[in-house]
Amino acid sequence: MYLSGMGAKRIAVHLNHENIPSPADTKWNNVTILKILRQEKYIGDIRWQKTYSTFMGAKWKINRGEQESYYIRDCLPPIISREDFMNAQTLREKNTRKPHKTNSSPFRGITKCTCGRSFYFRNTEKPLWECSGKYSTVDQCQNPTFLDSDYHKAWNRMCRKLKDHADEVILPCIDLFKLSEECPVSDEILQLRKQAEELSTRKYVLWSLCSQGCITTEKFLTLQNEIDADLEEIEKKLSLMDGQGDEAIDELTSLYRLISGTSSEKLTKKILKRVLSDGRTVEFELMGGLKIKEAL
Ligand SMILES: [Zn+2]
Repeated sequence: MYLSGMGAKRIAVHLNHENIPSPADTKWNNVTILKILRQEKYIGDIRWQKTYSTFMGAKWKINRGEQESYYIRDCLPPIISREDFMNAQTLREKNTRKPHKTNSSPFRGITKCTCGRSFYFRNTEKPLWECSGKYSTVDQCQNPTFLDSDYHKAWNRMCRKLKDHADEVILPCIDLFKLSEECPVSDEILQLRKQAEELSTRKYVLWSLCSQGCITTEKFLTLQNEIDADLEEIEKKLSLMDGQGDEAIDELTSLYRLISGTSSEKLTKKILKRVLSDGRTVEFELMGGLKIKEAL
């Protein structure tokens, strides 16, 4: 099947579909198929010492040349021909060594244009970024395109700066958030709490009016629903405000830790949230809400 051009994944699907049991008695998957394709025992050969034991035989390690291994030909009855096996190995190598053309970018999907649209990655000979509104007939975007290589340079530059000045940039931000956590609650929060209290009182008054027969049950229920909706809205706002500081402190602390020990290429996935560009500059928004602008 493999030699006829069927991929390991499709073979697994086929075997599962036909209810053919797998060696481990679980479902077939592409890893099992590829493993089987590699095994020389199916052509009647054996390799001794594929694994070896370490630490008094308690642990087994894969022998990657640390120990001698022995290859014995034709000591088992073959299930498949040597030729097919060799062809499958060549095909497998060809499939796995497929040149991986980079048509993706870590900045894809998170690069916004100042016009409100998005910048798109174009994998041309010299990969570049272009606003989706560049050829728009209505409200055409005037921001220029920029090279992907310049984008990466700007990112690496920013990472280097942040790494070198983490103590002066990130630590004061953390302190600021900590300070705002400790300082008395903001006026806005106080206001919201007061509103919530008033609404609760009104609810109680309505209930007593209803129980005394001053208003109908129907009227009471309608008013109560309205009050409950308002209360819910206020509680939502309050919980958002309360949690914000903690979250920012956590994120900034992670950022501080990550920036010193991770390469800038790997950092994109870990610390970068959004990018805003006008084609001349890029503003990186990092975790913890930190924004840093770089020229392109
Ligand atoms: Zn634009």
